[in-house]
Amino acid sequence: ETGHGRLPEWFRRPLRTAHAYRGVSAVLSELGLHTVCGSAQCPNRHECWSGGTATFMILGDRCTRNCRFCAVAHGPESPPQADEPERVAEAARRLNLRHVVVTSVTRDDLPDGGADLFARTIERLHEPGGVTVEVLTPDFGGDRACVDRVIDAGPEVFNHNLETVERLQPALRPEASYGCSLDVLRAAAERGGEAVLVKSGLMLGLGETDAEIGQSLRDLHAAGCRALTLGQYLAPTRGHAPVQRFVPPERFEEWARRAHECGFEAVASGPMVRSSYQAREMWETVSRA
Ligand code: SF4
Ligand code: SF4
Repeated sequence: ETGHGRLPEWFRRPLRTAHAYRGVSAVLSELGLHTVCGSAQCPNRHECWSGGTATFMILGDRCTRNCRFCAVAHGPESPPQADEPERVAEAARRLNLRHVVVTSVTRDDLPDGGADLFARTIERLHEPGGVTVEVLTPDFGGDRACVDRVIDAGPEVFNHNLETVERLQPALRPEASYGCSLDVLRAAAERGGEAVLVKSGLMLGLGETDAEIGQSLRDLHAAGCRALTLGQYLAPTRGHAPVQRFVPPERFEEWARRAHECGFEAVASGPMVRSSYQAREMWETVSRA
């Protein structure tokens, strides 16, 4: 349903990524790293990479969960690699990145859900001459000690996606929950205080109503979120949850306005917006305020 030929015209963009992509790909493969930018074939690569932002995926590329909208492979994982934080930091240096987003699959098989590797990656990226860091974390099963470990490493931004409205969670995120994700965000906001920007995001087009979107924005803000991303859901394959509607760009603009009214300080809302889209700009908007 979401093959390129059938996408609304606002999805068509010039392809200008080839040159930058080859250089970045070479560094990544030499260091044995994955980016979400490359593996998700993200349409924003040119804009993000030329602006000095990239999203690294640590802790492997197989998830212990099975969300119905997600293209990440499911299955048994390999143990965390102790040198991965240093390799991410080296990639950030070689690629002259300014803002690094670090994310991972969910690792329900690990006692700490991978929190320690997140924390050590933040610490390495912050070493002198380092970059600003945004983590986009799983829910750690709601384990507060894991959230604390990550927050105490001092990321500039703590991001965890609510993904969709409350009613659709059981069908789309069977191993997660609306309440657990809000709890994780609340825990991060309480632990981080003013020093950490707490951020979340929703995909639109999964069957949610406008009233449900409005409720989710209020719930996120009440949990301590100050930054928000809203983007169009695209089904990775026909086996995934189908797209229920394409939300036009002007509706995304309307949601951005509503989110600001609700109290969010930084909002990215548009068909192409992904969790880490304009991540540095969003962080700077709030940090300069
Ligand atoms: Fe990478 Fe995120 Fe930018 Fe896409 S939006 S290119 S995944 S940093
Ligand atoms: Fe995908 Fe995250 Fe769900 Fe795993 S937990 S299937 S990576 S959305």
